[in-house]
Amino acid sequence: MSQDRIPCDLKIEHGITITLDGRRRILRDGAVAITGDRIVAVDTAEALARYQAARTIDASDRIVMPGLVSAHCHNVQALARGLGDDVPVELWTYGRIYPYETLLTEEDAYWATLLNCAEMIRTGTTCHADPGGYAMDGVGRALTESGMRGIFAWAGMDDFPPGFEPPPDFPGRRGTEETLRINEALLKRWHRTANDRVRVSYGLRIEPNVSDELFQGVKAYADRDETLVQFHCLLFGLAEEVQRRTGMSTVQWMAGLGVLGPNWLLVHMAAASDSDVVICKTYDVKVAHNPGASMHSTYGAASRGKFPELLARGVTVGLGCDSTAANNSLDMFRAMYQVATLHKEVRLQPDLVLPEKALEMATIDGARALGWEDAIGSLEPGKKADVIIVDTRRTNWVPLHDFSIVPTLVYSGEGADVETAVIDGRIVMEHRRLLTIDVDKVLAEAQRIAERIVRQLPYQETLRPRWPVA
Ligand SMILES: [Zn+2]
Repeated sequence: MSQDRIPCDLKIEHGITITLDGRRRILRDGAVAITGDRIVAVDTAEALARYQAARTIDASDRIVMPGLVSAHCHNVQALARGLGDDVPVELWTYGRIYPYETLLTEEDAYWATLLNCAEMIRTGTTCHADPGGYAMDGVGRALTESGMRGIFAWAGMDDFPPGFEPPPDFPGRRGTEETLRINEALLKRWHRTANDRVRVSYGLRIEPNVSDELFQGVKAYADRDETLVQFHCLLFGLAEEVQRRTGMSTVQWMAGLGVLGPNWLLVHMAAASDSDVVICKTYDVKVAHNPGASMHSTYGAASRGKFPELLARGVTVGLGCDSTAANNSLDMFRAMYQVATLHKEVRLQPDLVLPEKALEMATIDGARALGWEDAIGSLEPGKKADVIIVDTRRTNWVPLHDFSIVPTLVYSGEGADVETAVIDGRIVMEHRRLLTIDVDKVLAEAQRIAERIVRQLPYQETLRPRWPVA
């Protein structure tokens, strides 16, 4: 009856709907009703028949699921793809990427971020945590325009011991107070803007370059401003400096300083020990695992890491793609495949990190890692409408059974299967066409800027093709 009809803006119906709700329901013929930026109902298509939408998408032969959450993604490094391949992490950081970031303008960062956002949206990522750089107004502007959801920081550093020194004109090279003030000002400009789609956290770059005062400063500021601190931590090749100086791991040192808490997002954690795992659980610290970056750049997360132990203890571990100079892909489907396969191979245990856990890490656990689980990470009434539609009428999806929906998604799915993406209730990609980003323009600008930067790099003569390019 017409008086029973409930109006809504958008309805996505008849898809296999993976809710990631508290019961982890999968609806074989599901529907999601959206009004404004919010999900208003999730149930079977039959149960939601009374919802009359201004726009209806038929998702037959498709999976409907929460948009993926990348717990670690560097926007400003998007134009450094190819600059950091096949080198040790110390050289990657101080010798390759810091000189690149030194040359980056706000305008360059804007185009880099649009490139990243285009790659993320077309592979199903709708939210990301960016640990930052030093041209972050460009990042904020691009996030606002692109429709992408994200939280970013100033990558703080204030201590420069011998052997761990960035270039003299490196823009992150600041004092403690100045670093805190810059990050605070960034937060005042961008935090909770664009209908709370864009957020700002505090940030620390890497462990050899952070003083005790900066650890304590960012913790106090982040608590006051009710936001995160993103910090690259326990990387083989960098963690040893803190161990040498303090006799403790970085995490043990931070616990002793009294700074750890649930708003820390510790990135990488490849060199974590069993006692570091216990500390993470004790303080409800969140972890961002980047299996692709670890394999690309030999961080040791698979061969030496304690990720199965972190998961077994109930530590919240999100999944990230890191940067296109460190992984070099932003496809979270690839990251889900990696996390669901590499730990079991290293430990010779075929049921270690099941595909269902990989999917949780890429959605609801990632949302929790970013402090955003009240609004995103699952399809539930009241949450923000961040939804993706994945085409299953493709060779890599058939046959598909009730018992193999999530395993097939993780083991066989790929970012290119994502057909439509909705962020904050707005369709940002439809039938693989991006609606918020002029991709051709972005590709042209990204290539032009990257070529200019390469010409200016102090190590440009070392960048030679291994095979002759005629
Ligand atoms: Zn990183």
